[in-house]
Order: sequence, then C-alpha cells, then structure tokens
Amino acid sequence: MARLSDASTQTQTTIPAVLPGVHPILRKNARAHCYKDGTKTPEQLISDVFRNRVESIDHDQCDAGDEDAFFVADLGEVYRQHIRWKMNLKRVKPFYAIKCNPDPQVVRLLAELGTGFDCASKNEIQQVLDMGIDPSRIIYAQPCKTKSYVRYAAKMGVRKMTFDNPDELYKTKQFFPEAELFLRIATDDTSSLCRLSLKFGASLDCTRSLLELAKQLGLNVVGVSFHVGSGASDPNAFLKAVRDSRAVFDQASEVGFSMAILDVGGGFCSDLFEPMACVLSQALDDYFPPNIRVIGEPGRYYVASAFTLACNVIARRTIEDATTQTSAYMLYLNDGIYGNFTSIMFDHQHPVPRILRCGKRFLHGSEASEKYGTGPATVYSIWGPTCDGIDLIVEKAEFPEVIDIGDWIYFEEMGGLYTLALFLVLLNREFPLKPMVRVAYTKCSATRFNGFTDNHEVLYVSSEPGAAALLGFD
Ligand SMILES: *Cc1c(COP(=O)(O)O)cnc(C)c1O
Repeated sequence: MARLSDASTQTQTTIPAVLPGVHPILRKNARAHCYKDGTKTPEQLISDVFRNRVESIDHDQCDAGDEDAFFVADLGEVYRQHIRWKMNLKRVKPFYAIKCNPDPQVVRLLAELGTGFDCASKNEIQQVLDMGIDPSRIIYAQPCKTKSYVRYAAKMGVRKMTFDNPDELYKTKQFFPEAELFLRIATDDTSSLCRLSLKFGASLDCTRSLLELAKQLGLNVVGVSFHVGSGASDPNAFLKAVRDSRAVFDQASEVGFSMAILDVGGGFCSDLFEPMACVLSQALDDYFPPNIRVIGEPGRYYVASAFTLACNVIARRTIEDATTQTSAYMLYLNDGIYGNFTSIMFDHQHPVPRILRCGKRFLHGSEASEKYGTGPATVYSIWGPTCDGIDLIVEKAEFPEVIDIGDWIYFEEMGGLYTLALFLVLLNREFPLKPMVRVAYTKCSATRFNGFTDNHEVLYVSSEPGAAALLGFD
C-alpha cells in the first residue's frame, strides 16, 4: 500500500482516483451491505462491531456501567476524507483542528498521513508533540493566547501562531519574538452555523495598523489566516475571504513584509465539500501565485461522519392519549446534552435517532431502524439522563417499533465534538479541554480493554485497508 506523502511534497505526487482497496468515497453511497467481491462495506463492518458489543450485554446481570453509551469509529472514513481532500484541494495542506475531536487514533492516523495540526491550547500542543510529531507541523491557531501557553510554545519550538489585535503582538514580542505570525482576519460568516468571526479576526480597516505595529516591534508576520465559520453553507464565503486576504498580502508588502503562507482555516462540511473546494481552488489560483504556500484547518470535515454513537434506553415513561387510545413514550438515554450531545445547544445540530436494537432484533442499517413507509408509527421524545429539564435530545421521533428499556438507539455523524470547546471559547476561556472521547482499546475487533475508565468507550474499525495498515490494525 502506497503511503500518502506529506502534503509539502504533494505537487510531485499524483493521487490515483481509486486507491487499491478504497471503497466509494462517501459512506452514504455505500449503504449496500456487500460488494460484489464479497468484502464488507463500511456499514457492514460497523454493524458487526455494534452487534457484537450490544449482544454481549445482559442488562439484568451486567456490572454497573457496562451498558454505557459508546462510539464506533470507522477510521477508514477519516482516510477517505483525506484522499478526497487531496483530490479536490491539491494546493491546500490540511492542518487538522484537534479541538474538533482529539481522539488519539484519529490524530495518529492523520499524523501518518502527513497532515499538520491546528492546536488551540497547551494541552493540544502537548498531545501532538507527545506523539513525536515535529513542532513545524503545528499551528497554534488561537488569536487570543494565555501568556504561559505562549512561553510553552516558544520552549517547544511551535513557531506558527495567529494574532488579531495589538495586545497579542506585545505579548508575542515579550515571550516569543521569533514566532511566525499569521494575521487572522474576520470574514463574512453569516451563512455558517457557528459564526467564529463574531469572536475572532481583525476587520480590514485595522489590518494595516496591526502590520505596522508588528513591523515596529520587529516581529515576523508570515501570512494571513481566516475562518469562514463552522458549517459554512455558502461557497462564495471562501472567494470573498481569499480576495480579502489578497488585499492584506498587498498591505503587508507595502509595510515591508514578504508574506509566504495563506491559511484558509476550516468550515468545510462533507455535503458541500466539492463545490466549496472548487470555488476555493479557483480563487486561490486567481489571487495567489504558486509560490505562496496554502494551508487549511479542517476539523469536522475529517471526523464527523466517522463516529457513530450508541446509547441505551435506561428508562421509559408512557403517555396515554385517552381520546385516540394511543400511547406515546418519553425515552431516557444514558447520554445527553451534558455528554456527547452538546452540539444541540451550541451548534444547532439535530441528531437523528435510529434504532440499533429493539428487543432481540438488531436493526442497524435496516429500514426498520428508522421511520419508513406510511404505516402506523409510535411517537417518542428522547431525553438525556440528567435531572435538568433542558436535557432533551430529540423533541419528536417516530418509529414503527415500540421501544422499551434496554433497547439501543444510535446516532450517526457524531464525530465533531468540538462544540464543547467552542462553548468554552464563548465563555471566554481558552480550553484545556479534556477529551470527551477516550480510547478504550484498539483494533478492528471489538474486544474491550480497560486502559481508561473515564469518559466514553470507542470501538475502532477500519473500512480501509490503507488506514488499517498505517494504524497497525489486524
Ligand atoms: C474550530 C476551528 C477550526 C475547525 O473548524 P471546522 O469548522 O470544524 O472545520 C479551524 N480553525 C480554527 C481557528 C478553529 O477555531
């Protein structure tokens, strides 16, 4: 299996449209359970892991916590997203935004694939350095940094960092004058779900004075960065931001800097990736000559679809409707908005519930796992386990099945966890974020390993032989 090269050498490398063993790029297109050659589809592999895990639990006998919510992560999906990136955004070297999901296996795979890393705190920098990754592959992309973290970055040689205000320049002058600085500019992010420019980014009318101050302080500004907002839905946001960046590059050369790198940030979502990449690539070619290096900071793009969460129904309340003579149910799961569903509160996400196991029937991936047809359906509301009334996961769901205590519900597209981090940012705290997802063990099979006791278990699988080989999975 050919290794994907580091993106810094990617101009010499051509990525074949189909790598050996690579299944169709989008898992959505791979719903069928089996390929002609008999190998399993990603969904079938994930199904097997879920089945083994939930069928091994006897709810009347098991130890406390054995039925806790858990993830299945398909690292092959991360691998496919990487190939898709390289095919569509040849010029942009990805620096994965760790805050999105610091899962160690994800980070390890991306390290093997040659990406860089966008870190937002000392903990994240340390996590990456501890894996033996060179500090030149890290960008400390937090424009408002804690002083002691800046000293830490200086000590560890993490030179790339962002700024967007004068005080940050004085701080840099004091603690890390050799830093390679990126001026983060604000963008029009009105079309995005999470408007990061509300909080970060210099507006275009102050970029010149910031550059002049940096020059006066003898600092080294190497480029411009922006973020079009998380969950951006308008590809033209990239066009406008690239155009604005060009204007700032020109200001910089007037001030006496020779900028060499453009950082196009994150905000890529899987559904709109190709059109966005197309607009972005064209804008880059229109506004920046080939000698300007381009990096990006994708987060959710890489991981969202790779993680599926399974939750157990721990309690149920029946609501009888005397007039229609029907029952609706409130289901209580063992995970909620204080756990892996923070995205509901802070990210305007609407997780879609599906039935994993109902009674003795395993329904993952089948029609019966969701509402289908026009037949009679039972109505549910789905709640988290805490005593807080806002801990509501799904207000209304309909299934043809009657779900009971001990049954399992699953949610796809649960890999983008950085919403919690974002929440802390909104609270104005830099986040020494404790990863919510911790490795419980490894490998394709679903044996449990008791390495970590806190947080959630993740069962890993790889639907790509390439990813499995890089990770040393059997
Ligand atoms: C959150 C964040 C990212 C990743 O954003 P996505 O929308 O998940 O791609 C990248 N860069 C910075 C500075 C961020 O804050």
